[in-house]
Amino acid sequence: MKIAAIVTDIEGTTGGTGFSYDVLMPYSLKHLGAFVREHQEERDVMRALVKVSEMTGIPLHNLDGIIRQLAQWIRDEDAVTALKTLQGMLWEKAYKQGLFQSHVYPDVPAVLQHWQQEERNLYVYSHESIKAQQLFFRYSTEGDMRLLFSGYYDSTIGPKDDLQSYVRIAEAIALKPKAILYLSDDRGELDAAAAAGLNTTWLIRPQDTSLDPERVRLKSPHPVVTSFDQIAVS
Ligand SMILES: [Mg+2]
Repeated sequence: MKIAAIVTDIEGTTGGTGFSYDVLMPYSLKHLGAFVREHQEERDVMRALVKVSEMTGIPLHNLDGIIRQLAQWIRDEDAVTALKTLQGMLWEKAYKQGLFQSHVYPDVPAVLQHWQQEERNLYVYSHESIKAQQLFFRYSTEGDMRLLFSGYYDSTIGPKDDLQSYVRIAEAIALKPKAILYLSDDRGELDAAAAAGLNTTWLIRPQDTSLDPERVRLKSPHPVVTSFDQIAVS
């Protein structure tokens, strides 16, 4: 069956894992508190703070306590929606000011463009919020890439290691799983996608992992590549 849609992960696949750990996370830890204080009266910020307060029992007027909780979630890499919402707003401001650009591997844009010219639809599936994904591809080292993608999925459709998430994505795209190719650097995600009937390809970026692609290739049920131009699409 012809591959009509390609769904890609971000971290370790289209971009380096370091961007999140070395740039976004430290930036949040340093600046989210001040951002929350400065913008607490704004509706979307207030709404997120109310959610944090409801979840944790920390009173809304205890802003110091709420900010401490947010910092703890950042350090623990807890996927709390209210935190992600606030981070999305903070990062948007920083991207717009040109404080940093997201990292995209240079082999990625030309291959995505080629697939788009072949009339394959391109999607993103990442644990980051859809807003953060859109920012990532708007302010990247490879320029504004938003026009390449037809849609974005995040963990609200389900966890990335759960095969049901990939069934739902296929339903949302309105294609049979066999007509979709999923790209990721994570074995658990690839196994889940394959179990749901999707085609898979395993990105092993030498810059991001100590895995040896030659060794992995010998026993992997997923095709293994080290860059986008090696991906075979039927
Ligand atoms: Mg990844």
